Amino acid sequence: MTTTADRTTITDKFQRPFRDLRVSVTDRCNFRCTYCMPAEIYGERYEFLPRADLLTFEEIAKLTRIMAGLGAVKVRLTGGEPMVRSDVEQLVEMLASVEGIEDLTMTTNGYLLPNKAQALRDAGLHRLSISLDSLDDEVFKKMNGRGFSTAKVLDGIAAAERAGFGPVKINSVVQRGVNDHTIVEMARYFKERGHIMRFIEYMDVGTRNGWELEHVVPADEIVAMIDAEMPLEPVEGDYRGEVAARYRYRDGGGEIGVIASVTKPFCGDCTRLRLSPEGRLVTCLFATLGTDLRTPLRAGASDAELTDLVTKVWGVREDRYSEQRASMTEPREKVEMYHIGG
Ligand code: SAM
Ligand code: SF4
Ligand code: SF4
Repeated sequence: MTTTADRTTITDKFQRPFRDLRVSVTDRCNFRCTYCMPAEIYGERYEFLPRADLLTFEEIAKLTRIMAGLGAVKVRLTGGEPMVRSDVEQLVEMLASVEGIEDLTMTTNGYLLPNKAQALRDAGLHRLSISLDSLDDEVFKKMNGRGFSTAKVLDGIAAAERAGFGPVKINSVVQRGVNDHTIVEMARYFKERGHIMRFIEYMDVGTRNGWELEHVVPADEIVAMIDAEMPLEPVEGDYRGEVAARYRYRDGGGEIGVIASVTKPFCGDCTRLRLSPEGRLVTCLFATLGTDLRTPLRAGASDAELTDLVTKVWGVREDRYSEQRASMTEPREKVEMYHIGG
């Protein structure tokens, strides 16, 4: 552990510093993406967390201040769908004033953005990542599990631009035989509009999406498909912990990223900690349970006590699931993605 004026850098068992906090603000979502919250499981009767169990905005802000004191410089709001949590822009406003946070971002399916983009910008959100798995309506309708067309998400992207978010990152999860035939079309469409596509290898997060390795399209294959039509060259990564491998178009028309968490795991540089909607601290996307912060928080723990707790959790961290995946023989229990965010 190293301490400067009012900031400490904590490192885990593999000397990885803590840098990024991902806050899942709700476990609810207006979509039912087949690879995340399949509709047949998350139906009418599915019981999401009761409101009283969710951390309040004040509680999230307090914990974020503590994490900033321990080295967090990036905060990403995610979920579930962060915009289904009412007045989420109030939380953005509170987090925007936390000292030490240099990058405040949100990952969203974009559906509610037309009404929210300006409020989020005004509240101090720096950047947006918007998920869209295909431009083909039929493919997208199936993948989001609710039959929503792409038009709403494209409206959301336009609203983000109007609100001043500039180029946004567009996240697309690629599944073999589902949307891989629409990759090049998407890359071309967003290249022409100056946005940055991020293709994500389909991951075995959670236990309910029926993941199989053969459904994964390796990042190299994605890059080759695009490169064949619009030549690409690699860009050097610019900071430790960057998850995307970046490529720029040789004609100067912007860049894309691929997130190869399955074929080229990046655990060695993983500086992320996740806070679940009910206040559990989770040290890996593939973790099982997490550490309850809400109970001590609501019991009146001091900042020093909470700081100590987070420091201990990070200090014993030795997660590197993606690097170990290939050698595992038994499937293991994991938390679901919508519960801790991507
Ligand atoms: N609802 C928001 C959204 O979809 O952008 C935020 C939460 S979502 C869990 C965050 C990101 O995780 C999305 O870009 C989503 O596509 C991605 N994701 C969800 N399940 C995944 C899986 N099994 N493999 C890879 N990415 C996944
Ligand atoms: Fe909802 Fe995002 Fe999961 Fe899709 S990926 S079900 S939009 S949380
Ligand atoms: Fe980080 Fe866990 Fe993903 Fe590895 S598997 S990159 S440790 S979240």
